[in-house]
Amino acid sequence: APRKLAAGNWKMNGDLAALDQIDALARDHAAPGCDVLICPPAVLIHPMAARVSGLADTIAVGGQDCHAAASGAHTGDISAVQLKDAGASHVILGHSERRTDHGETDAEVTAKAAAAHRAGLVAIICVGESEAQRDAGETLDVIAAQLAGSIPEGATARNTVIAYEPIWAIGTGRTPTNDQIAEVHQLMRDRLTARFADGDQMSLLYGGSVKPGNAAEIFAIAHVNGALVGGASLKASDFGPIVSAL
Ligand code: 13P
Repeated sequence: APRKLAAGNWKMNGDLAALDQIDALARDHAAPGCDVLICPPAVLIHPMAARVSGLADTIAVGGQDCHAAASGAHTGDISAVQLKDAGASHVILGHSERRTDHGETDAEVTAKAAAAHRAGLVAIICVGESEAQRDAGETLDVIAAQLAGSIPEGATARNTVIAYEPIWAIGTGRTPTNDQIAEVHQLMRDRLTARFADGDQMSLLYGGSVKPGNAAEIFAIAHVNGALVGGASLKASDFGPIVSAL
């Protein structure tokens, strides 16, 4: 079966003091029944990785983006090699906020994911439709196109996770119906299985307003192997129950 993953995306939130949340998470979930990952802002990756290794090694640390090149004249960017060196094991790529705020294209996401794989990182590749696209009945076409365009050839179940994040569900408190989530996750499973030898083993995450109160219901949907959690990953008292639900 695909590995279960509870992933937190802190986005541009948190500071050194917030690392205390990691202590609380590790204390309350010393033996989680799933993989647990926190992706803090880049400046916190190394101190968080150091904190985690001092505890129990049950929590992995990841980045939120990387450059497609390993090094070079790219002011302000960070490479996958550097993320790995800082203690990261994963990197989120193609998040809708990157696609919107920085104009990232499917082709750029593919190149970044290939770089992540070369560096030995697991790429968490995000896809998701806008509200206008859903209203226009285009959701499945949009997801299929993003999947086809955003995943490099070398992807395997060991180095790639796919996250479905409907843009209109991010930070809004609104979530799709269970049937809507199931429909997209089934499409993703079918497309990944058709394209990749072990596509049936790739972990598929749902993201968008996952909270302690709706996590168990969402995790019960077929082909949902975990969650990519934004706001509710910032506090151990919220993220902990989500980890437990998985
Ligand atoms: P929220 O959980 O805050 O809706 O954010 C979801 C998300 O974008 C995670 O990457």
